[in-house]
Amino acid sequence: MSEWGDGTRVVHSVSAAAGEPFMAGPVFASAYHLGGSDTYGRSHNPTWRALEAALGELDGGEAVLFPSGMAAISTLLGVVLAPGDTVVVPADGYYLSRTLVAGMPVNVVEAPTVGPYPSFDGVRLVLLESPSNPGLDVCDIAALAARAHAAGALVAVDNTTATPLGQRPLALGADIVVSSDTKAVAGHSDVLLGHVSTVDQELAERVRSARTVGGAIPGPFEAWLAHRGLGTLDLRLARQAQNAAALHEALKVRPEVSGLRWPGAPEDPAFEVAARQMRRFGGVLTFVLRDAAAVASFLERSRLVAASTSFGGLHTTLDRRAQWGDPVPEGLVRLSAGCEDTADLVADVLRSL
Ligand SMILES: *Cc1c(COP(=O)(O)O)cnc(C)c1O
Repeated sequence: MSEWGDGTRVVHSVSAAAGEPFMAGPVFASAYHLGGSDTYGRSHNPTWRALEAALGELDGGEAVLFPSGMAAISTLLGVVLAPGDTVVVPADGYYLSRTLVAGMPVNVVEAPTVGPYPSFDGVRLVLLESPSNPGLDVCDIAALAARAHAAGALVAVDNTTATPLGQRPLALGADIVVSSDTKAVAGHSDVLLGHVSTVDQELAERVRSARTVGGAIPGPFEAWLAHRGLGTLDLRLARQAQNAAALHEALKVRPEVSGLRWPGAPEDPAFEVAARQMRRFGGVLTFVLRDAAAVASFLERSRLVAASTSFGGLHTTLDRRAQWGDPVPEGLVRLSAGCEDTADLVADVLRSL
């Protein structure tokens, strides 16, 4: 499938034969007659497998599905890390990844996504997040993977912000991808889901078996919904990136806005590395308004921008990150451009400032 473009790949991410449904289906809920290879709903499910095959093809590895992004990350860390191991995590990445490792019997080293990174000697796992959430900083995945491998460390990349169409960390040299598919992959703000991908089949088997033993399994209907959403990922990302580019252009000259970031803008500090390693840019921007009150009155005036802590959906949403304890300015917001008409969205945002 890899000779085709992104739109073709996601639309045809279900390999339906004659007589079978176009999209993933039906939803297999739980148990089976014995006799085939599927035995019990906690270990085997054809609805998961259809989505795992699709995500694995897009990532260039083998995918294991989880009921949320955090379930994917926590299961991976539980499989890879032993007590006393050292893990490097992004200081400015998704805050629950730091909360998670803080509660594990491991040594934690935090590094900002743009660096500098510590020596990887004696490190078991380097977790990267690029672009980082919410700061949208970018790191050179290939260079860091080479350094980590020279020191004997594994590299995992949280690819949530980029999506499998925006970036292929496994092709850049990472060992593992983790993703919250709750965001743009499922894309309709109606489901939580996540996955781990790796080219290492033995590691994939250990992650899969940890899912079976741990029992944190994805709901079949959620998997089906996400697979249906995946079919329009190319279209949605294209509109979201177009809207983000237009908003960046409109906001960069506004005195109310500072710290504007979008890795797809040539003047953005992340652009050079992002343009080299990303296949396309997404719809998430970050900027700073004066304070929390300025964000509140922006939201009150806007008709199209909703306060929401998720991102990557059809609707344009905005989240003031300091309210969740991120170490960022009070007025810093992450804006996720949705699929509305560009002119409507830009006009609404400018009117609401
Ligand atoms: C949302 C998010 C997660 C957690 O995913 P859930 O599906 O909410 O559990 C992990 N990493 C990043 C970068 C995220 O944005």
